[in-house]
Amino acid sequence: MELYSGYINKLIEELAALPGIGNKSAQRLAFHLINMSPDKVNRLANVIVEAKANVRYCKECYTLTDRETCPVCANEKRNHKMIMVVENARDLAAYEKTGKYEGVYHVLHGAISPMLGIGPGDIKLKELMERLQGDVEEVIIATNSSLEGETTAMYISKLIKPTGIRVTRIASGVPVGGDLEYIDEVTLLRALEGRVEL
Ligand code: ZN
Repeated sequence: MELYSGYINKLIEELAALPGIGNKSAQRLAFHLINMSPDKVNRLANVIVEAKANVRYCKECYTLTDRETCPVCANEKRNHKMIMVVENARDLAAYEKTGKYEGVYHVLHGAISPMLGIGPGDIKLKELMERLQGDVEEVIIATNSSLEGETTAMYISKLIKPTGIRVTRIASGVPVGGDLEYIDEVTLLRALEGRVEL
């Protein structure tokens, strides 16, 4: 016997497939959506479709933007010879919030994880190496201090070392396994200033 309408089951199924949303949350959200006014539901649906249609990767750093080049890369006052490598656009936002970092970024969109079957080819690593053909003086690796983040940092430093470009790693003041986005600005700045040569 089908407990709910097939439409609701489908909605629950789609919501449950989103990261961090279990079956219970998916049910709660589905019922909430059904109880919303048609206007509000349409607005939400449109916002999703429009965001998907308009947001793309910056052609230089691969962060998410609605322009060809993101505001950081487009800013000539930034130091384009210093590239900070982060796992995702949220980490970039965390460093931008400090207002103290003057270089540019490279967003990997993930980290290497043999356990989850995510290899070097699944993140924007080839794109980073292509950028290093240009005039770059330092690459700051600011991946998380989780197992995946450390694995990725090690892998990247081994790749870059032979090019002679300076490779540094943010200081380990960042709590182990801590997502950069949850760390306060002072800690981030300390991690950046205390970065060590790899
Ligand atoms: Zn950019």
